[in-house]
Amino acid sequence: MDEVVLRLKELLFPSIADVAVLSVDVNIEMVRVDARCTADGAACPACGVRSNQVHGSYLRFPADVPSGGRSVVLQLRVRRFACGNSGCARRTFVERIPGLTRRHSQRTDRLR
Ligand SMILES: [Zn+2]
Repeated sequence: MDEVVLRLKELLFPSIADVAVLSVDVNIEMVRVDARCTADGAACPACGVRSNQVHGSYLRFPADVPSGGRSVVLQLRVRRFACGNSGCARRTFVERIPGLTRRHSQRTDRLR
């Protein structure tokens, strides 16, 4: 099963690093891809200091490029990190996945 999921990741996100596909659910109308970021931290957008202090996470559901007539929706777990820089005004921030999501976007970059 691990091998299948690994191939799915190559198939679905060939150019995106640090994303793991956990599962794929297909029904008549849609494909739901359960994915998460695997990077061990993220850089604060305000000060640039990297953090790996996870401060919670939540799910986002950006729509992706349709596949074989079915709509594709990602179920993407994104993490919120605490900025470790005491001089930074930003206390927490949400990771971004380059090539996949932007802030407040309901669609992946490639669907856009
Ligand atoms: Zn910061």
